[in-house]
Amino acid sequence: MIKLLFWIALIGGAIGYVAFRLKRRNLPSAPAQTAAEPRTFESVRCRQCGVYLPIEKSIQRDGEFFCSQEHAQKWLGKKAT
Ligand SMILES: [Zn+2]
Repeated sequence: MIKLLFWIALIGGAIGYVAFRLKRRNLPSAPAQTAAEPRTFESVRCRQCGVYLPIEKSIQRDGEFFCSQEHAQKWLGKKAT
């Protein structure tokens, strides 16, 4: 009778262990998706000097963003030559 109780405890423990492992494996998969979205707020980078600035303060030329008129002209001048 003691042997039977021993086996029941062993099998129950094994099932509990497997259930615990599966539960732990399923939990951390959810928060990885949030990192894939880079543009949550509209911020752009100057193509000339690399500074970040809000899109409404940027100057857009040829699909590129710039921090100032001067940098836009510098970049476009570099591209043309
Ligand atoms: Zn710049």
